[in-house]
Amino acid sequence: RTQAPPVVTTVLLAAPRSFCAGVQRAVQIVQRALDDAAGPVYVRKQIVHNAFVVAELEDHGAVFVEELDQVPDGATVVFSAHGVSPVVRAQADRRGLMVIDGTCPLVSKVHAEAARFARRGETVVLIGHAGHEEVEGTLGVAPEATVLVQSVEDVDALDIPVDARVSYLTQTTLAVDETAVVIEALRRRFPGLREPPSEDICYASTNRQEAVRAVIAEARVLLVVGSSNSSNSVRLVELARRHGTPAYLIDGPQDIDPAWVDGVTPIGLTAGASAPAVLVDQVLSALAARGPTRVLEREVAVETIRFALPKQVRTPAGADG
Ligand code: SF4
Repeated sequence: RTQAPPVVTTVLLAAPRSFCAGVQRAVQIVQRALDDAAGPVYVRKQIVHNAFVVAELEDHGAVFVEELDQVPDGATVVFSAHGVSPVVRAQADRRGLMVIDGTCPLVSKVHAEAARFARRGETVVLIGHAGHEEVEGTLGVAPEATVLVQSVEDVDALDIPVDARVSYLTQTTLAVDETAVVIEALRRRFPGLREPPSEDICYASTNRQEAVRAVIAEARVLLVVGSSNSSNSVRLVELARRHGTPAYLIDGPQDIDPAWVDGVTPIGLTAGASAPAVLVDQVLSALAARGPTRVLEREVAVETIRFALPKQVRTPAGADG
């Protein structure tokens, strides 16, 4: 008797996915600091919001702390990719800490805008998620001039006169479509609204969202590799669900529920900007272990952007093996 050929599962791999330039840089900063530093290397907050990355760096000796008072005087401390409020920088200065700044340059850009807009005498409306580290840092740049909104309802509830000088900024990892609705509400409410010179939602968030759109046009389910506190990863799950595609956030292959994937094809797969590519490979292997798969990539953009390392961890020219 001939057997029916096994069903081949198609995996649609979103591209771009995984590390962005800001995460790449932040992780490299900690690695270099660990290589170079004589004493321990402290990292304030998770360097990037990924459990695997943090555990690996911890294995190599990095000491993660929540606040600077857990760092001994004079020690080396790395600030995370999400940025810090000026109050934290001042505290580090006072304590004589050796700071290496892992803040993504695209977050620093938003901080610079907040400072500039506040200096112009404007009320700065920051669109973002309350409690996220990036938002706390940005709010801290000009705390007396900045208000946080998370939704159109928050815009409606703003206690600011319509003729006030108002500008807006956004968190870098928001959903482009959801944010557009909030910006529209701000424009309606404040006809003189001043806009940031360029988009604050970063290229990496935008590209990963576009790639998910391409994949869910075909996929019956989407797996997003990322940790639950990763803002840009959570946005990818929400985006798929808003378009009616079941989507699940997984830290790695161990989190896959067979009921999501067995007999399902095509399966979409992506990873947030803080999730390393090795985890995507592990998920692909786990899927292949369940039955034959073929992997097709759906690429919507090619990312070539890279950020220079801060001078404290820059390898001198020619020293790079
Ligand atoms: Fe920078 Fe965007 Fe990456 Fe955040 S997601 S680290 S803002 S490039």
